Amino acid sequence: MSKVLLKNIATLISGDISNPILKGNAILIEDGKIKQIGQEGDLDVKGVQTTIDCAGTTVTPGLFDSHCHVVLGDYTPRQKQTGFLESEVHGGVTTFISAGEVHLPGRPKDPAGTKALAILAAKSFANFRPGGGKVVGGSVILEKGLVKADFEELAKEGVRTVGEIGLGSIKNPEDAAPMVQWAKACGMTVMMHSGGTSIPGSSTVTAEMVIQTNPDIVSHINGGPTAVAMDDVQRLVTETDMALEIVHCGNPKVAVEAANLCLEQNALSRIIIGNDAPSGTGVIPLGVLRVICHLASLTAIKPEEAICMATGNTARVHKLPRGVIAEGYEADLVIMDTPMGSVGEDALSAIKAGDVPAVAMVLVDGEIVVSKSRNTPPPVRKPEIQ
Ligand SMILES: [Zn+2]
Repeated sequence: MSKVLLKNIATLISGDISNPILKGNAILIEDGKIKQIGQEGDLDVKGVQTTIDCAGTTVTPGLFDSHCHVVLGDYTPRQKQTGFLESEVHGGVTTFISAGEVHLPGRPKDPAGTKALAILAAKSFANFRPGGGKVVGGSVILEKGLVKADFEELAKEGVRTVGEIGLGSIKNPEDAAPMVQWAKACGMTVMMHSGGTSIPGSSTVTAEMVIQTNPDIVSHINGGPTAVAMDDVQRLVTETDMALEIVHCGNPKVAVEAANLCLEQNALSRIIIGNDAPSGTGVIPLGVLRVICHLASLTAIKPEEAICMATGNTARVHKLPRGVIAEGYEADLVIMDTPMGSVGEDALSAIKAGDVPAVAMVLVDGEIVVSKSRNTPPPVRKPEIQ
């Protein structure tokens, strides 16, 4: 049995937006899962092999990138870069959700081809963790000719998600809605592009089209990269209960306006955070942290709430047993602090001030995968392994 103790935690973010800050200064991990949370003296520390002294820093669940256009391996043909996923782990991301392997050169557009790509990506990423990060790969792109039995086969073979509707040849709600029903009946989570046309071959998607199609997630409500009109944002927030995704590679003004509307409508639990990279905008290793800072520094959203949007909210939508610090959940954690030179005194006040926090350590399943981030600034307080 492997036992890991995190002690001297100053601030503990739960990932649960209904109760974002937990009491306690220690976490006990057993065999990769969270076993106990509380005051160090109250935990069953007998037999602990590794102790991490968090030195008064902040511990959060590992971040999710809810919108990542992976293909296969840690390579993006879109920007011809390798190691982009590992680089994002250095920005605190421990789970990546594929929004569709759309950048595969020569991507097949027939039913057999689109299915084969999704199944291959799902199975490949199930065995491959770039930099230690977990990738939910294989997000089927809807193409003409797919039938109900195809979705049953996809689900049986490990495909959990439908990539952004609008990327493939299925574009109209009348064609998409039946497929969405088949996918949901198989337990799959469905994403739908919203806003302007992203690249040649994809399409412009309005709120009315999203409402008629009825996905689980409105992808990039702030645009990918071109946003829908604010009237459409209003409809999606007030007339649906869908998850609302805010991405880095979108419209920063609409991100703030949509977040303010969600605050007003008591809908913060529906916001999830993604990068929408690699895209034409580039590869953004710190994109998820930057959206957290953007929302928490420019709206009344609290930093701990913004962190919950990028953790527990996304995990809930995708039915994954992580993203919250609670007993029995996978021990994917980030230790963060205020970066050197920031006006912030700790990670949360740095975020509120708009500064990207320092990632001091990243753990996946209780194992350290990053002990010094190569991408964020260095932390003021440094955790130590004992
Ligand atoms: Zn999109």
